[in-house]
Amino acid sequence: MNFRKLAAAALTLAAATYSAAAQEYPARPITLIVPFAAGGPTDVISRIIGDHMSKTLGQQLVIENAVGAGGTTGSTRAKRANPDGYTIIMGHLGTHAASVALYPNLAYNPSTDFEPIGLVAGTPIVILARKDFPAKDLKEFAAYVKANEAKINMAHAGVGSVSFTTCLLLNSIMGVKPTSVPFNGTGPAMNALVGSQVDYMCDQIVNVVSQITGGAIKGYAIATPERNAALKDVPTTTEAGMKEFQASAWNALFAPKDTPKPIVDKITAALDKALDDELTRKRLLELGSDIPNGPRRGQAALATLVSSEIAKWSPVIKAAGVSAN
Ligand code: ASP
Repeated sequence: MNFRKLAAAALTLAAATYSAAAQEYPARPITLIVPFAAGGPTDVISRIIGDHMSKTLGQQLVIENAVGAGGTTGSTRAKRANPDGYTIIMGHLGTHAASVALYPNLAYNPSTDFEPIGLVAGTPIVILARKDFPAKDLKEFAAYVKANEAKINMAHAGVGSVSFTTCLLLNSIMGVKPTSVPFNGTGPAMNALVGSQVDYMCDQIVNVVSQITGGAIKGYAIATPERNAALKDVPTTTEAGMKEFQASAWNALFAPKDTPKPIVDKITAALDKALDDELTRKRLLELGSDIPNGPRRGQAALATLVSSEIAKWSPVIKAAGVSAN
């Protein structure tokens, strides 16, 4: 066989292996990297959506909490994983947008190192404080934090996380720089808030509904134009007198770059099916999340969202003069 024929045969073989792998996929469990601790929003959303996707795909989505550095440790791990569909990641506004401005030496580029699978949930941000925080509404909260800045602690899930980035915006609006206390996720940060070990936090709604309604913490305002059906009594930031603070986060699935397109398509289809499932929707809605429909679904919409969120948050972070390196 001459060289040309050999090269052609090798190409044919590679193509056949590629499509056979895609057809058989998934032949074993899939690792879903959650870059934050168990019990927080990213973990909870992953478990809800993963339950249904596992049924569709016929293989378990096994959650691996790979924590650290505001979610960038797990995201770096996902970037370096084999692009074979057996490792995917639940990223979010922090890991796949805000991290770009916060980490000048970020080990991955959210736009070019991943294959977008799809948006899973929109998650409005709520301003929270410990239950005994001495302020009855958002105006008093802002005044109290300003007057007592030196002794106030703000909890977050690490530089680059949603809680860090959105409270950065809140702090710049209030004109304060409190002490910040990092956790490996807002699951553990919430425990500290419930235990009154920290003073306040900005978090994705899915972590907070039962804590606020049960009186374990205070919820001062939701940073969206409309109130949320899961938290009817919590006013919007506009109603509460701080309309500049608008912040809504999101969680989304990504695969490492070069994961074969037919495999990514299968995962996207399983995600779509989960987002249409009545019980899955109910579970997500009860936690206050906003379920993407039609044009907000799928790979292209997520690619656009990542670029627009990098463009939106980078100037906010630069203006606050914060950097992790
Ligand atoms: N909500 C968290 C954040 O602040 C992360 C988590 O899901 O635990 O980014």
